[in-house]
Amino acid sequence: MTAVSPASTREQGETLAERPAYDEAWFESRATAGLRGLRAYDPGHDLVALRRRFDAQLLELGSNENPYGPSPAACEAVAGQLDALHRYPDPLGADFKRALAATHGVDTTQILLGNGSHELLMQLAQVFAGPGTEVVFSRYGFAAFALATMASGATLRVAEALPRTSTMPLGHDLDAIAAAITPATRLVYLANPNNPTGTWFGRAPLAAFMARVPLDVIVVMDEAYAEMADADADAASALPLLPAHPNLLLTRTFSKAYGLAGLRVGYLIGAPGLVAVMERIRESFNVNGPALAACEAALGDTEHLQWACARNAEQRVALTHALHARGLVVLPSQTNFVLVEFGPRTAAIEAALIERGVVLRPMGGYGLPDWLRITVGTAEDNRRLLAALDAVLA
Ligand SMILES: *Cc1c(COP(=O)(O)O)cnc(C)c1O
Repeated sequence: MTAVSPASTREQGETLAERPAYDEAWFESRATAGLRGLRAYDPGHDLVALRRRFDAQLLELGSNENPYGPSPAACEAVAGQLDALHRYPDPLGADFKRALAATHGVDTTQILLGNGSHELLMQLAQVFAGPGTEVVFSRYGFAAFALATMASGATLRVAEALPRTSTMPLGHDLDAIAAAITPATRLVYLANPNNPTGTWFGRAPLAAFMARVPLDVIVVMDEAYAEMADADADAASALPLLPAHPNLLLTRTFSKAYGLAGLRVGYLIGAPGLVAVMERIRESFNVNGPALAACEAALGDTEHLQWACARNAEQRVALTHALHARGLVVLPSQTNFVLVEFGPRTAAIEAALIERGVVLRPMGGYGLPDWLRITVGTAEDNRRLLAALDAVLA
């Protein structure tokens, strides 16, 4: 046998077939079917460039971040991890899971940790959906639901949202969602309250919905904003329904009410069997050490959480009134954002606000080009927003 030199191998390859372009189109052709319909996450504006341009004066109301920041205990916990950065984190996140289990009155075997809840929403479709199956969710449901479905190769079944005339305009229509379930359905995604609409539904309608869902369909409740809902709003968590419905699970995040979006921590609560199956694809160190320590500390500081949520609720009401006073349509919200209709001039208004250093979230991707989503800021943030808005609308 004669040794083949790299040079002669290359020559041989070139004579056999034309070399592929190895560009995006070629790699896409080698990707799974689900991947082919997808586009990479569009972060919207170049926030880094805008921050540089407006020199820390940029008013960022586009990403539903918590303007009050995390508990000081969480920051101390991160600082306490600085001498352990060469170590891998606890792959089980055992202490943090124990704290979560105690907080929610569930068993640690019911909890799965995610690098943000977005990771968990994606993995649920990867595990339970796929080519030849269907996934059901509402029009104007959270964007990750469609992404997760497409990436898995499953077919999207989008249920129509509630009409404009409803008390919960553009919100989830649980009857329409139940009716969209077919024998091919593996997964249903719900968000309560929902992003980007801010709308919500009560526990009794959810219980009635679950009674209609076939026992072999898994229902995902995304509760990213659950901590922010008013106690009397009936936007309550699905948690009490879990024992009666092991095919129901919920996801939560530390990115919103806890003010720790930068650390990327979310979790799922569900049946121990579901968690055990999902554990098989979890990257063993998906939540890093500083994040585990910070979230455990944040969980213990209920006073800070309640303080931030109370400030948010106050400002949500004040901002809604101020927008109403300007003749704008504002959807009801139990979150830290409001969806506002600006009409056919929306794109121009949004661009003019950017020029004044105010970033909101355009909604074209959701099929709502005449609307903008506004994060509820501090009293001072909202005053600045309204001043800029008045100048732009004049
Ligand atoms: C912000 C948000 C999330 C949270 O995502 P993380 O990955 O945990 O930061 C999940 N669902 C909804 C509806 C959201 O708005």
